[in-house]
Amino acid sequence: VFIAFEGGDGAGKSTQVAALAAWLRERGQEVVVTREPGGTELGGRIRELLLHGGEVAPRAEALLFAADRAHHVATFVRPALERGAVVLTDRYVDSSVAYQGAGRDLQAAEIAGLSAWATGGLVPHLTALLDVAPETGRARRSCRVEDRMETEAEAFHARVRQGFLALAEAAPHRYLVLDAAQPPEVISAAVVARVGELLAG
Ligand code: C5P
Repeated sequence: VFIAFEGGDGAGKSTQVAALAAWLRERGQEVVVTREPGGTELGGRIRELLLHGGEVAPRAEALLFAADRAHHVATFVRPALERGAVVLTDRYVDSSVAYQGAGRDLQAAEIAGLSAWATGGLVPHLTALLDVAPETGRARRSCRVEDRMETEAEAFHARVRQGFLALAEAAPHRYLVLDAAQPPEVISAAVVARVGELLAG
């Protein structure tokens, strides 16, 4: 079972990934937690280039995220799924459609096509979208050093948010959309309920 967590910067994804992983482990399930960009050694180097390597042209940025994803899926995610682990990823294809597509004004369909090629068509069974207003995300990030995307204008983050919501609206059965302004334990209870159904089903 493959579950993605998506949402804007400061949505609380990593907290929710950790909470779900703990719940699954308590039930005796093998869980693999990973993230994009940077879930592999090569990915870590791509992540550094993307976030702290200076200016990157939008199409080059899209290709670097796709390269990270292709390597991550082929060498890490698919092998884990094949041995029966539940894989939780902090960001996946939707982040590219939202950030490189809606955020950078590239065509969402082209970015989705690039990611479909990069992953060989691997789609999560469930995507938990933590919907965060740009101003809430910014306030939550204020205590940490920001990377190249996080310093983008509020309008960029507003386009990213709409990009995520449009994806969820297009395939509602595959999404759990949650208001990220809620307390973390309220969000994790909703995630656990939905994942419980998925595993039972
Ligand atoms: O979620 P995380 O902090 O690891 O993401 C690193 C940065 O890369 C964030 O600023 C995020 O907005 C950005 N990002 C992006 N496009 C993606 C994935 C992440 O711009 N496809």
